[in-house]
Amino acid sequence: MKPQDFPEDIRPHLIPAPAGDMVYRCLECGAEHGIEELLYTCPECRGLLLLEDRAQDRLKEHPGAFWRRLFDYRKMLNIPALKGIFLYYELIAPVIPLSDIIYLGEGHTPQVAANDSLKSEVGAAFYYKNDGQNPSASFKDRGMAAALSYLNHLAGKPGVGKMLAICASTGDTSAAAALYAAYLGDKVASAVLLPHGKVTPQQLAQPLGSGARVLEIPGVFDDCMKVVEALADNYQVALLNSKNPWRIRGQESYAYEIAQGFDYDVAGKAVVVPVGNAGNITAIMQGFLRLHDLGIIEALPRVVGVQSVHADPVFRYYAQPDKTKRVFAPVTVQASVAQAAMIGNPVSMPRVIRLVDEYTRRAGEGAVLVVEVTEQEIMDSMLLANRHGHIACTQGGESLAGFRAALSQGAVAKDEVAVLDATAHHLKFIGFQQMYFDDAFPPEFEVTPKPEYQNRPQLLATGETEIQKKVADLAGQIAALLALSPKK
Ligand SMILES: *Cc1c(COP(=O)(O)O)cnc(C)c1O
Ligand SMILES: [Zn+2]
Repeated sequence: MKPQDFPEDIRPHLIPAPAGDMVYRCLECGAEHGIEELLYTCPECRGLLLLEDRAQDRLKEHPGAFWRRLFDYRKMLNIPALKGIFLYYELIAPVIPLSDIIYLGEGHTPQVAANDSLKSEVGAAFYYKNDGQNPSASFKDRGMAAALSYLNHLAGKPGVGKMLAICASTGDTSAAAALYAAYLGDKVASAVLLPHGKVTPQQLAQPLGSGARVLEIPGVFDDCMKVVEALADNYQVALLNSKNPWRIRGQESYAYEIAQGFDYDVAGKAVVVPVGNAGNITAIMQGFLRLHDLGIIEALPRVVGVQSVHADPVFRYYAQPDKTKRVFAPVTVQASVAQAAMIGNPVSMPRVIRLVDEYTRRAGEGAVLVVEVTEQEIMDSMLLANRHGHIACTQGGESLAGFRAALSQGAVAKDEVAVLDATAHHLKFIGFQQMYFDDAFPPEFEVTPKPEYQNRPQLLATGETEIQKKVADLAGQIAALLALSPKK
């Protein structure tokens, strides 16, 4: 729709101009730092940083109903910069001019309802929100769209040379970083550090295809993270890990979309998210809190984090019911099919603790919980979902397994409608499905295939050579295999 065709009260706000007054705020010591420099930890105390809009109270000059109307109308606007996560421009990074925003088709991913037979198998109604339908096939694109748009903005300033964007990754961060950096062309080069042998062939192919320097480190993700931090401490690089507060801002869009998808009524809903480095779950909590602050939503949904027993430091922390006795301890991870969440020492843990406190204070005890699931449950849940028309990856399977666990513990009520995060596309993690079908899991995964979920192609043989006879023979075999009834 053309701008002049929108209602008169919407028109002046439709295409936003830069406004906010953003700064980095240290979570530990409270210090404030300017955003002209690319920081990812506090130079004073090394604490985690959040982005804060010091002028955010200006947004409260409008009631929640105004923002709801504006965001709904903006959906009809055909301006690329406002078609992705920056539809919620004022809430994400209102200091970036529209001309610097990169849009590669991220965000506004479909929310697909479970059909009746899946609902009855699971015992409750739910949706999958398919974040695998982002351009690099995972939710990481949401954060990269914000982080690289800001880098693009900085790159346009005088005296800024070519930048090197660098990240450590369990696979999807690097695919997203490399894609967005490739779009920026000469302004930004990218290098990604991956744990050797711990990402899928698809995830390795993605940054290679985007032209990034791909460096493999013997070890696991937590080792890559240490190397990247040493680089960021000592050299001029832009760090694109989830410590990067611009990424967290971009990932808040997931919460905004869920709210908008339910016409801003999220009371009695539960949002289920797999947890690795905990960037995503903190962004989602922060996103709902921001909507609540502005009166855009009236109630907060429940948030359920899910971890595998093979990588469960956040679950363990909250397993201690007495708040005063909780101590965070990193764990050594074991083989996990939810490989993108296979992290023993999540960098965002201080953010998790702070946000869970605030969320619980506002929404009540039990509004945030973390559940644990087995590798077997993850695989079985993924296959169950996909046999009912979904495209869940292994982490998406983890979400469903976690939802089932929360239901059976009574932590989520049967009449709560859940939205499960399918964080990546099924095809990125297809090797795990193959291992299940072939019963080829190494023992450390602890997965035994259930015959009812296994599937394989059948090769049909034919003795005949003449083409017509071959066709008739094969059709006959297939009809018998599929028990087809002949035409009357
Ligand atoms: C990164 C990732 C996760 C984990 O998200 P965190 O923000 O690290 O907690 C889960 N699933 C997929 C597919 C991912 O790429
Ligand atoms: Zn500090």
